[in-house]
Amino acid sequence: MRRLGHRVQLGVFLAAVCVPCIALVALGLRIVAQDRELAEKRRADERRREVLRVHDALLARLEPIRRSEIQRDLEPAERYRHPEVVFVARVQNGVMVLPWEADRAARRCRALVSRPYFEGRIRKCEQSNFGAEGGAVAARCYERALGAARNPVQAAYARWLWAQALDRAGENKRAAELFRTLLDAPPEITDEDGVPLALYAARRLAPSAADQTRVIERAKTVCLSRPWLPPIAWLPLTEMAATLDRTAKAFADDLRKQAESQARMFGQAERLRDDFARLGLLGEDGRPEPVWAPYGDEGWLVGAAEGAVIVVRGPELLRSLNMEPTVRLVDYREPQGESLGAAFPGLKAVLAQAAAPAEDGNGLQRRLYYTMLFLIVAVTTFAGYLLWRDLQREMRVAELRAQFVASISHELKTPLTAIRMFAETLQLRRAKDPEMEEEYLDTIVNECERLSRLVDGVLLFSKAEQGKKIYHFRPVQPAAAVREAVRALRYQLSQQGFELQMEIDDGLPVITADRDALVQATLNLLTNAMKYSGDSRVIELRVGRENASVAIRVTDHGVGIAAEDQARIFEKFYRVPTRENQAIPGAGLGLALVAQIARAHGGKADVFSAPGQGSTFIIRIPVEPARET
Ligand code: ADP
Repeated sequence: MRRLGHRVQLGVFLAAVCVPCIALVALGLRIVAQDRELAEKRRADERRREVLRVHDALLARLEPIRRSEIQRDLEPAERYRHPEVVFVARVQNGVMVLPWEADRAARRCRALVSRPYFEGRIRKCEQSNFGAEGGAVAARCYERALGAARNPVQAAYARWLWAQALDRAGENKRAAELFRTLLDAPPEITDEDGVPLALYAARRLAPSAADQTRVIERAKTVCLSRPWLPPIAWLPLTEMAATLDRTAKAFADDLRKQAESQARMFGQAERLRDDFARLGLLGEDGRPEPVWAPYGDEGWLVGAAEGAVIVVRGPELLRSLNMEPTVRLVDYREPQGESLGAAFPGLKAVLAQAAAPAEDGNGLQRRLYYTMLFLIVAVTTFAGYLLWRDLQREMRVAELRAQFVASISHELKTPLTAIRMFAETLQLRRAKDPEMEEEYLDTIVNECERLSRLVDGVLLFSKAEQGKKIYHFRPVQPAAAVREAVRALRYQLSQQGFELQMEIDDGLPVITADRDALVQATLNLLTNAMKYSGDSRVIELRVGRENASVAIRVTDHGVGIAAEDQARIFEKFYRVPTRENQAIPGAGLGLALVAQIARAHGGKADVFSAPGQGSTFIIRIPVEPARET
C-alpha cells in the first residue's frame, strides 16, 4: 500500500515537474533552432538583396560602356572613353579580330608610304643600300626621297630610313640629329607593323645622356596616347629601357613591368579570340546576346555588340563603383559566391561577411536561452533530489515504525504471558502451598509493574515527541530517585542472577527535577545493562557529584558498542544492526528517552564503550540548571 503511495508520488512528480520541464527544454531547443534558421534565412535574404544590388549596379555601368565604346571606331591617337575598357575588337563572320591585328594607324601609314611615286624611290634607295657604296649613297638617296615626300607620314618614313643609312655610313652625329627630329613625330605615324617611328628614335637616342630626358618624355607620351600599342612595339621600348642609365631606373622598371603585364594581356586576348565562339556571346542567328561573361585570370568581363566585342576589367569596374573590397567577382570555378543571374553567365559575386552586429544579437539571445534551459534543468534536478531524499527518509521512518510495532508487541507479550500463566495457576488452585501462592502473586505484581513501566516509557516518549509539557519539576533527592529505580528492578535482577554493585552518595544536594522522569531514565539504563550484558552478571551503579552536576553512571561488562554506532544510539528507533543485537527485544526508544530527559533537565547523556568490553552510560544533571520544560 505504502509502496503504491510512493509510486503515486513519483508519478505526480514526473507529471508535475519532469514532463513540463522536458516540454520546456524541448520547446526552448526548438526556439533556438528556429531562431538560428531564421537568422540564416535573414542572412541569405540580405545576401540575395546585396547580390541584386551588385547585379543592377554592374549592368547600369556596363550597358552605357557597351553602347558608347562600340558605336564608334577608335581613331589612331585616341583612348577609350572608359578607363575600365581593356580593348574593343571587331567580329567578322563570327571570328574575333584583335584590334592590333587590324590597326587603323598602321593601315593608313602603309597606304601613304606605298604610293607609287614614293615607294619607287624608296625601293631604289634600298637597292643602293646593298650596293658597293653602301650607306653613304643610300643616305643621299633617302635624303632625296625626303624631298619628294608629299605628307608628314612619307617625310617621317624617309627621314627614318635616311637616319638609319647615315648610322650605317658612320655619320652618327647627323643621324642623331635626324632621330631627334623623328622623336617628335606624332604617335600615329608608324611603320607597317604599327610601331610608332618616334619609338625607334627613342631607342636610338636612349644611350645618349644629353637626350635621355627628352627620350623618356616622348616615350611616355607615345605610350599614353593609345590604349594599347601593338605587341611588337614593346620590343624597342624594352630595348630602350635596357640602355637608359641609372638616373632613369624608376622609369625603366616601370616600363619593364608594363611590358610584362601587356604581354600577359596579349596572351589572354589571343586565348579569348580562340575561345570566343564558345563563350556564347552570340546567339544562334549570330546576333549579340545581352550578356557579360567572365574570362581569364585577370577578371575580364566580355560582352558582345553589333559586329564587335568589348573587354572590361572587372576589378577596375568594382573600384569605379566603390564596391571594393566588399564585393569580389569570381567565375564558376570558385566554390564560394552567389550567382549574378542570367545577364552574367558563369559569374559570381563574393560578398564580404556582413551584418556582424545582427549575428552578435542572435548569439546573445541564444546564450540567454541556453542559460534559461540550464536553470530549468538545474532547478528540476534539485527538486527531484529533494523529493528523492524525502521519499528515502519517509521510507526509513516507515520501516522503523514497523520495526517498533513488532518489538513493542513482543515486549508486551512476555510479561502478559507470565501474568496469565501464574493467574491461571492460582485460579485453578494448583499452587501446592501458601508459600508458592505468595511467590506466584509476587511474580504477577512484578510483571504488572514491568508492564506499566514499559507503557509509561512509551507514553512519556510519545508525549515528549509531541512537544507536550510533561515534566513536573520539584525538589528531588537524586539518591532516593535512583534507589526507587533499583527497587523496581530488584526482582528482575535477582531472577536473572545479576549482582548490582552500588555506590550512591547520600549526601548529594537536593536538585530540582521531575522525579518520575529521573526514575524512568535510570530504569532504562539499568534495563539496557541487563539486556546487553551477555554472559557477564555484574552491573555497577554510581551516583555522585561531578563539579556542578549530579552524575548517574551505569556500567556493564557486556557486548559493548562500536564507535560508529555510539553516535546514533540516542536517535529514536535506532538499534545496533548486528544479528545478536537484533535478537534481543527492544524498540529503540529507551536511550532516546534518556537523552530527552537529560536535556529537559539542562543536562546531557553520554556513553563510553568498546565492543566486547562493556559500556558506561552517564546522565549528568546540573545542580542549578537552566532547564527547558
Ligand atoms: P532498545 O534497547 O530497546 O533497542 P535503546 O534506545 O535502549 O533501545 O538502545 C538503543 C540501542 O543501543 C540498542 O538496540 C543497543 O544496540 C544499544 N545499547 C543500549 N544500551 C546498551 C548497552 N548497555 N550495551 C550495549 N549496547 C547497548
